[in-house]
Amino acid sequence: MYERLYLDLDRTLFDTVRFSDALIAAFEDIYKVPARDFRAQMPQFYVHHADMQYYDFYGHVASLGHNPAAVAERLRPELAGGDYLFADAHSLLAALSAVPPVQTTILSYGPSNYQQYKVSFVPELQRLPFVATLQFKQDYLASKPPAPSLLVDDKLVAPLPTWCSQFLIDRSATAAKIAESAHVWRINSLETVETAVSLAYNERNQKEIR
Ligand SMILES: [Mg+2]
Repeated sequence: MYERLYLDLDRTLFDTVRFSDALIAAFEDIYKVPARDFRAQMPQFYVHHADMQYYDFYGHVASLGHNPAAVAERLRPELAGGDYLFADAHSLLAALSAVPPVQTTILSYGPSNYQQYKVSFVPELQRLPFVATLQFKQDYLASKPPAPSLLVDDKLVAPLPTWCSQFLIDRSATAAKIAESAHVWRINSLETVETAVSLAYNERNQKEIR
């Protein structure tokens, strides 16, 4: 039974590749930097921290002589209306908003300005508490009071606090749910999360009824 659910943003709920493609195309349209050249420059703006990394979009456009905040606003109408959630994320977020079975937080790794920018295109995500951090997630979670929790992330986060389990989302996996270790399961769709948290909710309700 889980009391808290932590959902990663990039590549878990949010189709980061689809968003980046749209962003690069919009930048090409407006600022006339060929997409091929822009992509070739991107690795210079990957910021590494042990096995974690993020792409510093704001630093990249600043290096091209632009004001990053102004670029973000200029690109906004071009990007608006795009669907940047995975199909199974739409369904999970709808289920969580109907009867919130657990306390849910979007826990994303990256700079706050760019993470917030991505979220600003997805109304469903704006209904949930949102954290953008450059702390390792295991450290962030360990700093919270213990409570049975489930983290859903496309990267293995270890070592997790003993009260936390992880669903590792891997949409290429051949089975819905495969045990990787005592507290980690590989899942191939967020539908499995829906099932796990609604089961926890039902179990808790049953106890309250009794
Ligand atoms: Mg991720």
